[in-house]
Amino acid sequence: MNSKNTPEISRRSFLRISAGAAALTGIHLPKAVRAESAGALATLIDLSLCDGCTDRNMPACVQACRSINANKISPVAERIPEPWPRKTIEDWSKKQDVTNRLTPYNYLFVHRAEITVNGERQTLFVPRRCMHCDNPACATICPFSANHKNKNGAVVIDPDQCFGGAKCRDVCPWEIPQRQSGVGIYLHILPDFMGNGVMYKCDLCNDRLKEGKMPGCIEVCPRNAMLIGPRKEIEAEAQARAGKINGHIYGQKENGGTATLYVSPVSFELLNQTMTGKPGQPAMKPGVERRMAGTDPLGKAVLASPVLGLALAGAAGWFSRRGDRKACQEEDHD
Ligand code: SF4
Ligand code: SF4
Ligand code: SF4
Repeated sequence: MNSKNTPEISRRSFLRISAGAAALTGIHLPKAVRAESAGALATLIDLSLCDGCTDRNMPACVQACRSINANKISPVAERIPEPWPRKTIEDWSKKQDVTNRLTPYNYLFVHRAEITVNGERQTLFVPRRCMHCDNPACATICPFSANHKNKNGAVVIDPDQCFGGAKCRDVCPWEIPQRQSGVGIYLHILPDFMGNGVMYKCDLCNDRLKEGKMPGCIEVCPRNAMLIGPRKEIEAEAQARAGKINGHIYGQKENGGTATLYVSPVSFELLNQTMTGKPGQPAMKPGVERRMAGTDPLGKAVLASPVLGLALAGAAGWFSRRGDRKACQEEDHD
């Protein structure tokens, strides 16, 4: 790492990427990847390599993700306000051990797909998390600008600015963000009338990227089933791998394009049929379109009114009281 502003992914990280790339395609990646100066990063998840870590109690990627993100959520209020008018409370604080779906305490889970292809039974494992979409409606729709696409490709929710209204989940084709009620800024403003907690999801290990480290899930994968690198190289790698196994790619067109590319030896139509699509267990419909409704500036304003002014005034007070937390967005937002 040369300086705080120009971190680079470590040599070891680069070797992890380049070794996999060279072994399969011989393509040349740059000698070092700078999280900011390299521009947009992308990730590749190779389903032909992931074995679900079935020899462990918990997949290594899931374990690393949970460990990195442990203690991100502050203690939940003793009395969680019942938001008007829907009274929906989502409290995962007593179910933090759940790993078979996305929750506010679990940003990555591995789906097991049992598939029959040409009469032959196959088992595939599909790690699922935020896709870090190119033009994420989840960020566009956020009335409090708590959600941003960074230049490095990560889509990040700022927990200090999120009111937990879950509009981001409504417009995400995979309903990725997960709500924890009873935490966050809304408790300090109008807790019975506005907001309902904080939304949580994978942030591509944005803090680690800025320090020149790899996302934890990628670093620990014993099968090198996941890669990160400059967008163009990852796209080329995905094409090359798919070509080599006569396989399929997911994430290039879905939701208008994403920074996560899956390569699979079987079609995503088949994989999708094995998925429940239940809350926290997103399906994988090929070609899924961007959910645009309400994401234009007017829609955003309507969603936020009429208490936005009140909330922002209250929020300003809350931030100044806290003093120790940044109220502004990261410098590297688009
Ligand atoms: S991606 Fe790697 S760490 Fe995660 S389940 Fe697959 S093999 Fe294990
Ligand atoms: S997958 Fe969903 S939550 Fe993640 S960036 Fe895309 S729209 Fe947003
Ligand atoms: S990139 Fe980081 S936050 Fe996202 S799934 Fe991997 S370890 Fe978890």
